[in-house]
Amino acid sequence: MSSMSQAAGALQISYTVSFPEAQAHYADIEMDIKGLAQNKLDLKLPVWTPGSYLVREFSKNVESFTAQSGGKAVSVVKTRKNTWEVNTQGLSSVKVKYRFYAFEISVRTAFIDVTHAFLSTSGMFFYPEGGLNLPSTIKIIPYKGWDKVSTSLAKVGTNDFTVTAPNYDILYDSPIEVGNQDIFGFKAAGVDYEVAMYGGGNYDKERLKKDMAKIIEVETAIYGENPNKRYVFIVHNYLKGGGGLEHLSSTVLGAARDGYATEAGYEGFLGLVAHEHFHLWNVKRLRPIALGPFDYENENYTTNLWIAEGFTAYYDNLSVRRTNLFPVENYLKALAADFNIVDNTPGTKVQPLSQASFDAWIKSYRPDENTINTSISYYNKGSVVGMLMDLEIINDTKGAKSLDDVMRYMYNEYYKVKKRGYTDAEFKAGVEKFAGKNLDDFYAKYINGVDDIDYNKYLGYAGYKVVDEYEGLNAPDLGLRTTTVAGKLKVAAVLRGTSAWVDGINVNDELVSVDGVPATDPKTLIDGKQVGDKIQVVVMRDGRQLTLPVTLLKVTLKKYHIESVTEPTASQMTVRKKWLKI
Ligand SMILES: [Zn+2]
Repeated sequence: MSSMSQAAGALQISYTVSFPEAQAHYADIEMDIKGLAQNKLDLKLPVWTPGSYLVREFSKNVESFTAQSGGKAVSVVKTRKNTWEVNTQGLSSVKVKYRFYAFEISVRTAFIDVTHAFLSTSGMFFYPEGGLNLPSTIKIIPYKGWDKVSTSLAKVGTNDFTVTAPNYDILYDSPIEVGNQDIFGFKAAGVDYEVAMYGGGNYDKERLKKDMAKIIEVETAIYGENPNKRYVFIVHNYLKGGGGLEHLSSTVLGAARDGYATEAGYEGFLGLVAHEHFHLWNVKRLRPIALGPFDYENENYTTNLWIAEGFTAYYDNLSVRRTNLFPVENYLKALAADFNIVDNTPGTKVQPLSQASFDAWIKSYRPDENTINTSISYYNKGSVVGMLMDLEIINDTKGAKSLDDVMRYMYNEYYKVKKRGYTDAEFKAGVEKFAGKNLDDFYAKYINGVDDIDYNKYLGYAGYKVVDEYEGLNAPDLGLRTTTVAGKLKVAAVLRGTSAWVDGINVNDELVSVDGVPATDPKTLIDGKQVGDKIQVVVMRDGRQLTLPVTLLKVTLKKYHIESVTEPTASQMTVRKKWLKI
């Protein structure tokens, strides 16, 4: 502990947030600091928000940063991209004011307009250097007509508009929604749940209450306890919306306003609910050692996002499956979709899962045209690996244990008993404990290596098999992804090893014609062609027309579905029942 942090230990901090120019997307923030006894005070803004592994430079949205004390201006020097140094010599208190521009719609960034304010706290509220352990209060002065606040932070007294955080880790893990959101509540697993719906939508509240409660009960049963007293779902409904961000006692979800009424839309929303809610254990409490306490100023590297995110992605659909709200076939389809993504991404043969996690900051969160060739998603492949481990444990123990037991054991052992995150080796040991075998070979192949996944070995334990509908298909494939820009077909990606890759069609090429036929529909570009045919592809590249001779290669894509074996054995049915809870 430095002398600076000892000094910070005595500070009393409160914020006042108002929205005099909500129409222009600004919050005006006043930070009151009392109890000063130091010559200078460094105020810092996090550069990233936990759960979203990208340095986002939130301080780019800060302007008009000033300080005063007793009505007199206090000098301030900006010393880093996210640090302002306040000269506090001879002062016992200081009032800092700044304006914050909030116009990025996402679950991890603040957004303000006249209809609401979504305060993504980690990106908006400064902390004093060395003072992350300090409590603070936030007083919100709502824009005209706003009458509700939704957050997991505790109210001060009975005033909804003043909330308090015991330290900055909790403040930064507690987003705040202010406006006229539609709020409803229910109880599940002994916890009070609040749902705050912004933006309207065709949701059925009574149905959501029942179905969300079922998911919460299923997930709580995996861990054996639900550590919150109160939990808040903040839901942002837009014309098109998606994604979510997990927090300790709340989550923020993006949803399509009119997506609740179709089976696929509704099942997708429940899957998102299940995903973010599962995180309250997996990553928010049971966590890789690098993910907490956080360094808010730098990247926090971990090779374990395939557990934190991948296993959560595995358990989201599995939890919805276990509610019995949808048929088993829907779950098997979702699994096969993951298999397809993994095997149809050339990067799966390049980047091991542990590296996909480590490089999230520069690869997964900064995708480009070549991402598909160099990277694999730790969500999709992590989810598949979770399934493999689950089936291995269930099979090895003849249905007595499953991955659930690993998660519950690790939660107890590391979050509750040791009160710290797990290392790579500790997680592996946790799985081995229940599988009853050494997993060196499994890790070498699927976590730290790029081996093809033997789906049928594992699905076979449960009497299922994966079928590739393209098996034996002797059809040609160009190997392109395209987009249509101003009515023209442009190349968005060229897949490694395909015809387009080998013969040099480039990203950003505008496709003009194939063998003299105008290129308009990506689906019909090579209609009637055979494997081995030599075709002439005319493209516009940087304003010049080029003719590229291309030899058509055989399709390398997979198209999987999962089906039951004809007569599953008794032991296969034991595994199946334990796995899918059917
Ligand atoms: Zn997640």
